[in-house]
Amino acid sequence: MFKKILIANRGEIALRIIRACREMGIQSVAVYSEADAESMHVELADEAYCVGPARSIDSYLKIDQIIAAAEVADVDAIHPGYGFLAENSHFNEVCRSSGFEFIGPSPDAMEKLGDKNTARAMAIASDVPVVPGSDGLVETDNEALEAARGIGYPVLIKATAGGGGKGMRVAETEEMLIPALNQARTEAQAAFGNGGVYLERYVGNPRHIEVQVIADNYGNVVHLYERDCSVQRRHQKLIEEAPSPNLPEAQRQQICDAAVRMIRGADYSNAGTVEFIVDENDDFFFIEVNARIQVEHPVSEMITGVDLIKAQISVAANERLKLSQDDVQCKGHSIECRINAENPDKNFQPNPGKITKLYTPGGYGVRFDSHVYGGYNVPPHYDSMIGKLIVYMPTREEAIATMRRALSELKVEGIATTAVFHDRVLQHPEFVEGRHNTKFVEREFMD
Ligand code: ADP
Repeated sequence: MFKKILIANRGEIALRIIRACREMGIQSVAVYSEADAESMHVELADEAYCVGPARSIDSYLKIDQIIAAAEVADVDAIHPGYGFLAENSHFNEVCRSSGFEFIGPSPDAMEKLGDKNTARAMAIASDVPVVPGSDGLVETDNEALEAARGIGYPVLIKATAGGGGKGMRVAETEEMLIPALNQARTEAQAAFGNGGVYLERYVGNPRHIEVQVIADNYGNVVHLYERDCSVQRRHQKLIEEAPSPNLPEAQRQQICDAAVRMIRGADYSNAGTVEFIVDENDDFFFIEVNARIQVEHPVSEMITGVDLIKAQISVAANERLKLSQDDVQCKGHSIECRINAENPDKNFQPNPGKITKLYTPGGYGVRFDSHVYGGYNVPPHYDSMIGKLIVYMPTREEAIATMRRALSELKVEGIATTAVFHDRVLQHPEFVEGRHNTKFVEREFMD
């Protein structure tokens, strides 16, 4: 087993990994930017190294600085968390060639799955249903027009290097196709340095359902059931839950089996998520793989009792998975609300600044994964999530009640947060009945 791990990240996920390391008897090493000198991950890690100025491109994305810190601290492995360099196959490669185990899949699996168009081809090869779409990337306007006629409007143009909803455009009609195509290409080129796009049928009113998988280096792959992440704003998840409400058992089994096939076919090890959209007939279609730990992993931990970060570390250290599929039972219901430093009454405008007073909820069934404290200054340079409020109860109804109770206890003064918005969602009949889809927030809450 590893003796020392460097965490190439910040915020709550850095704390989550430090905690797992401490429980496993592994030393943890934090890296931080100048803006994060007062952060909890610096305080709680066994060692910490400053890797540069506030801007992430000068610090958390600076591969040479992170590798230098790993060398000075003499670690065995590097955990990338999520975001920043987590899905950068070049960083993955550099870690390994510098003699540090990368806690994640191989660079090859990461690169193939990171490209959505290649991942789509791999899904087809593994007999996993994909959204009907173009046969690979569309290179010319004519190719796009022809593919779209075959698919039928509306079509969705997607960047093969896409992420965070960038480089994604809907074309309702043929007249809209070429302008939307050009916009998507330009946006993708600017954001990812890759303007490649492909087309998919635009599925109306889908649910977003994803399957958590963990695999070792010996070909053992197990799923930890599914999560429903349909409460989204602008393709960004706000609330996640497990298991999914209103998914027939047969479909659930099929989705989980498909995810395992996909991961097996990609020769993938470590934790990963296979994402699907599910249409109004409960038919499901693969959309992408996230080759890393995800923000919403705790809800899967709660319903299965599996510590995903510890499992990631163990399989990266070349240990066999300690569980078989039959060992993984799904029990109870878990919900996570992302608490962001954003003002929901001002169109979710980011609201960084000093937290003058903080009281965090607790009690039966409540988990709060967060790096903030009273007096902490939320820096404007990074994403606005300040914590994840997670509840776990025997039933969905009880989980909703516990979440509402926990939200009412959370007191954050000095900055606006999304907590009040979550409470509105949790009371909405469509959410309460589990009938919501990815269009729900925009339809019901945005003017
Ligand atoms: P990104 O990696 O940019 O987040 P994804 O492929 O994961 O993009 O899709 C993000 C969200 O976009 C999904 O959760 C879903 O809400 C929506 N989406 C993706 N593909 C389709 C589709 N073919 N039809 C309708 N909505 C889609």
